[in-house]
Amino acid sequence: MSKLAKPIPVPNEDSKPYWEGCNAGKLLIQRCKACATPRFYPRIVCGSCGSMDSDWIETSGRGSVFSYSIIHRAPSPAFKDDVPYVLAIVELDEGVRMMTNVVKCDVSTVAVGMPVQVVFDRVSEEIAVPKFVPVEK
Ligand code: ZN
Repeated sequence: MSKLAKPIPVPNEDSKPYWEGCNAGKLLIQRCKACATPRFYPRIVCGSCGSMDSDWIETSGRGSVFSYSIIHRAPSPAFKDDVPYVLAIVELDEGVRMMTNVVKCDVSTVAVGMPVQVVFDRVSEEIAVPKFVPVEK
């Protein structure tokens, strides 16, 4: 029997540099060239000033848990072997928030404010998904 596949992210024109960064072990975010506001998810327009001029910066990969939920019931059979797992919003030290998973820890130890560091979960030749692990402050 074949193993059920999880959905794999499909890069688009806006997110391609982000996924290329992940593939190289770097967590990149956009920064507006006009007002210097960092942003995530990848998109063409700055939400602060409306500028379409931006560049990519490499983050520290460090942040903290802003919010989380422990998933006990798999949303599809492909996630059945993962439960319980942590779906979290991590706030990077650079100020942006991203939805992700906190992994490689007892799910009951995850807490708001917990310091975390990015790791990359390779799911295909082109795609490595950023997830986070707890670290000492
Ligand atoms: Zn801006």
